[in-house]
Amino acid sequence: MSTKPTSKPSLAVPGEITETPDQQGAYPRLSDAQIAALTGHGHRRGSQPGEILFGEGERDCDFYVVLAGHVASVEGHGTHEERIISVHGRGRFLGELSLLAGQGSFYTAMALDAGEVLALSVARLRELIARDPAFGDLVLRAYLLRRSILIGLGAGLRVVGSRYSPDTRRVRDFAARNRIPVRWLDLETDPAAEAMLAQFGVTPDDTPIVVVYGRLLRNPGNAELAAAIGLPAPSAQQAGSDMLVVGAGPAGLSAAVYAASEGMQVTALDGVATGGQAGTSSRIENYLGFPSGISGAELADRAVLQAEKFGARFAVPAEATAIAQESGCYRVNLADGTSLTSTSVVIATGARYRRLDVPRLDDFEKESVYYAASQAEALMCRGDPVAIIGGGNSAGQAAIFLSAHATRITLVVREHDLSEHMSRYLIDQVTRLPNVQVMVDSEVRELHGDQALEAITVVGTPTGTRRVLPARALFVFIGAVPCTGWLGGLVDLDDHGFVRTGAGALAAVGGPDGTGPLPLETNRPGVFAVGDVRSGSAKRVAAAVGEGAMAIRLAFERTRPT
Ligand SMILES: Cc1cc2nc3c(=O)[nH]c(=O)nc-3n(C[C@H](O)[C@H](O)[C@H](O)COP(=O)(O)OP(=O)(O)OC[C@H]3O[C@@H](n4cnc5c(N)ncnc54)[C@H](O)[C@@H]3O)c2cc1C
Repeated sequence: MSTKPTSKPSLAVPGEITETPDQQGAYPRLSDAQIAALTGHGHRRGSQPGEILFGEGERDCDFYVVLAGHVASVEGHGTHEERIISVHGRGRFLGELSLLAGQGSFYTAMALDAGEVLALSVARLRELIARDPAFGDLVLRAYLLRRSILIGLGAGLRVVGSRYSPDTRRVRDFAARNRIPVRWLDLETDPAAEAMLAQFGVTPDDTPIVVVYGRLLRNPGNAELAAAIGLPAPSAQQAGSDMLVVGAGPAGLSAAVYAASEGMQVTALDGVATGGQAGTSSRIENYLGFPSGISGAELADRAVLQAEKFGARFAVPAEATAIAQESGCYRVNLADGTSLTSTSVVIATGARYRRLDVPRLDDFEKESVYYAASQAEALMCRGDPVAIIGGGNSAGQAAIFLSAHATRITLVVREHDLSEHMSRYLIDQVTRLPNVQVMVDSEVRELHGDQALEAITVVGTPTGTRRVLPARALFVFIGAVPCTGWLGGLVDLDDHGFVRTGAGALAAVGGPDGTGPLPLETNRPGVFAVGDVRSGSAKRVAAAVGEGAMAIRLAFERTRPT
């Protein structure tokens, strides 16, 4: 570990330094016994006022515990945007999720006064997390909460771009799906946007620009942005593995965890982000073992760390574009030209949400139409009236979550009764919300607005009555189409494009013992399909996770018959 040069503290530090209060476990204090146990794994040293322990953008920095004095997490250190995010005293540890995820730090850690710290390498931290469940859970929980706090504060990347620019929306969506904290400066309304363009000597024509750890990127593609943040690139993956998992939603993450924990060499790819559809869910309340629910983002982050602990490798963004059978293995081609081979493949590419069939959708889609309702979308429609289309569980969840952010919500449901597709526990909550109006037997027929959506026309289907209702955003949850285009003709699909498995797969596999496909196996030996992409699947997180785990057991059966 190297001691960073001492910089004069540019921050106006008050005479008496106040620690940031703990927020539901985000900033816990280690006990003397815990500190004593850690001491043998690192080394203690003094820290000076203004000393930088790690800087913004730095990767693989040490894990620090404050033994004496105070350390601040500072965003934009040394710039005119400098702000203190949190202050920590004795017994608190530093860092957040980026430390374990191999991403650059989103802030600088700076000693505020003379003190002492204990420093451990990140490799040692990983070992301790794996070895000591209580300590591991304390750190993981704190790191996940700190990431949520950063996202809420908009501390991290800076995106400057117009709300009417599709590329601005793409960049923001990519960051949101990957749970990367971002502050968006809207060129149309935010005076700070102009100032930032001037600071970097660029014009509005160059937007969107992204400032990543002080470095300027002009309209970066998703792969360029991923590389700048430190997401795992496909090129870093080994070309061959025992198990290739395509799609890293709940089903793929589960397959990755179980394959790696069984000693398989596993690579998991995702075209957008780990977490899949579930990663966009604000609260999953029906997943076993979480009586008060868990956010999809937390579930995904925990699963990724768990899979990596067992040795699984991830590649994001890595979109599979084709698959072919070669002698004794399968080859999967990726959009960036990389190709990977594997003995077995798990298809876990899920489904993509269906678009609404209504005139002028294209006019508003990039700016005002959403297919997920997470914290990122909530920030965009805060204080506005919104409409949610759909009568299933995802529409119900969205209504509950957005009701805390939007002024008024119209839930437009085609069916006669919410209970046709929505679980009872969600119906009970939705119908109790004072700012949610449920319109059953109804369809959206028109969208109104100039550049951005302003209102929708809803038609009551039995009577033909038309109502124009204010809506600045449209959230669409009307079913899904499977992501199976990349499979070419390699595996059998059903009439709706979902992958057939087991007895439902048409052609006989012709395995070593001459039997047909195993459960979850396609008509190709060693190629399995799990989760929402599979024909007849339950379209639930728990089912997807169960299938991911089961596919690994079956893959062993296929490749190593007893
Ligand atoms: C808003 C919302 C709320 C929900 N709430 C709940 C809930 O409370 N309870 C519940 O049980 N279920 C819920 N669901 C449903 C649940 O999320 C899905 O059933 C589950 O995510 C399916 O998991 P999966 O892994 O099969 O697919 P997905 O989650 O769809 O993941 C598939 C992944 O594959 C990737 N991918 C697609 N094509 C490619 C390609 N060519 N190359 C590489 N990667 C690719 C995608 O980017 C995606 O990340 C919700 C869904 C939504 C949208």
